[in-house]
Amino acid sequence: MRRRRDAKIIATLGPASNSLEKIGELFDSGIDVFRLNFSHGTHADHARTHGYIRQVEAARERPIGILADLQGPKIRVGTFKNKSAELETGQRFVLDMKEDDGDETRVNLPHPEIFAAMQVGSQLLVNDGKIRLKVVEFDDNHAVTEVVVGGTISNNKGVNVPDVLLPISPLTEKDRADLDYALELGVDWVALSFVQRPEDITEMRGLVGQRAAIMAKLEKPTAIKHLKDIVQLADAVMVARGDLGVEMPQEKVPVIQRQIVRHARREGKPVVIATQMLESMISSPVPTRAESSDVATAIYDGSDAVMLSAETAAGDYPVEAATAMNRIIIEVEKDVYYRKSIDASLPAPGDTVADAISSSLHHISNVLPLAATFTYTESGFSSFRAARERPEAPVIGCTPYQETARKLALVWGVHAVLSAEMSNVDEMVANAINITLQEGFGEMGEIIAITAGMPFGRTGTTNMLRLTRLKAL
Ligand code: PGA
Ligand code: MN
Repeated sequence: MRRRRDAKIIATLGPASNSLEKIGELFDSGIDVFRLNFSHGTHADHARTHGYIRQVEAARERPIGILADLQGPKIRVGTFKNKSAELETGQRFVLDMKEDDGDETRVNLPHPEIFAAMQVGSQLLVNDGKIRLKVVEFDDNHAVTEVVVGGTISNNKGVNVPDVLLPISPLTEKDRADLDYALELGVDWVALSFVQRPEDITEMRGLVGQRAAIMAKLEKPTAIKHLKDIVQLADAVMVARGDLGVEMPQEKVPVIQRQIVRHARREGKPVVIATQMLESMISSPVPTRAESSDVATAIYDGSDAVMLSAETAAGDYPVEAATAMNRIIIEVEKDVYYRKSIDASLPAPGDTVADAISSSLHHISNVLPLAATFTYTESGFSSFRAARERPEAPVIGCTPYQETARKLALVWGVHAVLSAEMSNVDEMVANAINITLQEGFGEMGEIIAITAGMPFGRTGTTNMLRLTRLKAL
C-alpha cells in the first residue's frame, strides 16, 4: 500500500472516532498519524485507542505514527454559584485565590504564578478570547480587573495571558503523569502545548530521552520570539492556530504561519498546520470553499502535514473530513505550479555530508529521472534530510527499527519500510531494488538513487550515494 501524495494527514481521535472500525476507515481514507489528545479522556481510554491503532497497523502492514498531545499549563478559572455569570463591559471583576464559587463580582483563579507575573495593564483573555479583562491593580493573591469586552463567563473556562512570560514549567503534574503513561504505551511523537522558551524543549527532552520525538506547539507570542531556537531544539513544530489566534491578533496568524513553515523547512524539521482546517465539517459532510483553500495553501507552502482536530474527534463526519483533506492535497500536488513554488522556496543545503548527498539528487534527477530516493536510515535522520530537499520522486525510508518507521509517518514525502540490517553493499542494492518494486514505486528499467551510511548500523553516517537500475535479481 502506498499513498499517492507527499504531504501527510494527522487526525485527532475522540468519541466520534476512537473505535477499531473507525480508525481502520480513517487510515484507509488517508490518515498517516493519529493524535491522542490528553486534554480529554482517561488513561484507560488512550490505552484502548492506542491498542486499536496498533491493530490497524498490523492488519494493514504499514507503520502508523501516534502523537500524544499533552495539555500543558492551560490556565482555567474556578466555578460559579450558578455555573456562569454575566460580565458587563466597563465593570470591575476580581480574580483571586479563594476557592468558593464565583459570581458577577469575582471568581477563583488558582494560579499564584499568574499573580506573581502580571503587571498593571496586563490582559487576561477568557473563553477563547471572547471576554477580555485588563489588570487595574493586583497583589500576590488577587487582581482587580476592568472588563474590556464583556460576556458570559462559565465554569472552568480557559484563560490566556498573552503578554506575560509565565515563570512556570511547561509541564504540569498532570502532563508529567500523562507523558509517563504515553511513553509507557509506546507513542512515537509527544507534543508539548504552550511552549514559551527554548528551555521548555530542553526540559521535555530530559524527561523523554530517545523514547519519542518531540513536537513543539507554537501557540504563544513568546514562542514566536524564540522561534529559531525552539525549531532547532524540537524534532518538529505545530502551528497551533487555535490558541495562537487568541494570544495574538487574528490577522497576524496567516503571516506567522508562513514564517514558521519557511523556518522549519530551512531547518529540515517537519511542520504541521493545525486547527479549524475543515471546521465546518464538524456538522457538514462537505467543507466550505474557504476551508479547502486554507488546506491547499498549507500544501502550496510546503508544510509536512495538515491536522484535523474536532472534525475527526467529535464531529459528525470524521471519515468525510479525512477524505476531503486527502483529495485536496492530491489535487494541489498535481498542479505544475505547486512543484514550481516548492522548488522556488527550497532552502540552501546545510553543511553536512547528508545534505551534500541529498541536494545533489536535484542535479541527478534533471539528467536522469529517478523513480525514488531510497534512504537507509537508523534514526530517521537521512530521511528527514532527504525530505528537506522536497524531491520530486518519493523518498523511501528504510530502517530496521519500527520506532523510526513510525516516526517517519509524519514526514513530507517519506514512505517508511521496515527491513533487516544490511551487511554489505550488494545486499543493500538488491534489497532496495526489491522493496522499490514490491511497494509499487518503480518499474523495471527505471533508476533509483540509494543513500546509506557506512559502516552499516551506525547512526548519522550518511556518506554514500549509489544509482541503480531496477532489474530482476
Ligand atoms: P489544542 O492545540 O487543540 O490542544 O488547543 C491546537 C491549537 O491551539 O490550535
Ligand atoms: Mn492549543
